[in-house]
Amino acid sequence: MQDKTPIGHIHAVPVYGRLPQRFVGLLPKIEAITSPNEWSGLSYIVCCDEDIDTTVHQNIAGGMYLRHAELNVKYSDGTEEYFYIGEGRPVIYIEGGLHRSDYWFAFDFIHELGHHNDPDLPIEAPTVEAELFAHTFALNRVIKDDFQFEDETPPMYYKEANAIWDRENKQ
Ligand SMILES: [Zn+2]
Repeated sequence: MQDKTPIGHIHAVPVYGRLPQRFVGLLPKIEAITSPNEWSGLSYIVCCDEDIDTTVHQNIAGGMYLRHAELNVKYSDGTEEYFYIGEGRPVIYIEGGLHRSDYWFAFDFIHELGHHNDPDLPIEAPTVEAELFAHTFALNRVIKDDFQFEDETPPMYYKEANAIWDRENKQ
């Protein structure tokens, strides 16, 4: 990654790519609600600012936890950037242009960090259990009242994860 300049860092993990302007100030806030050990072992983070029309593309993933992949990121100005993700050097990819409000951007970001911290994360496609684990990981850290919020299409199993979280935390 010597040829790329990071746009920021979260607990020493470099952030590459581009962020929509509305989310640039959120990186320190995301750092503040997580601990350094939760980021250890991550190679880097890639952000994309491509503007996605959510009325056309509903329920698409706002991010990915990638363990071994090649990534061609398309930016809002039409340019592309190539990233290689080597084995054993996992990466979080965030589709920042998808989100309108701080809450969903932070939630999806920390959700991917949840996959990184899941001791039972399957190698193949994520299971319902893995999605619920990552959602709960995010719900424990991204407190709705602390973030600017707009009603956006929630990711799959968000409602189910909230019901579980409520049962465990609101006795
Ligand atoms: Zn997930």
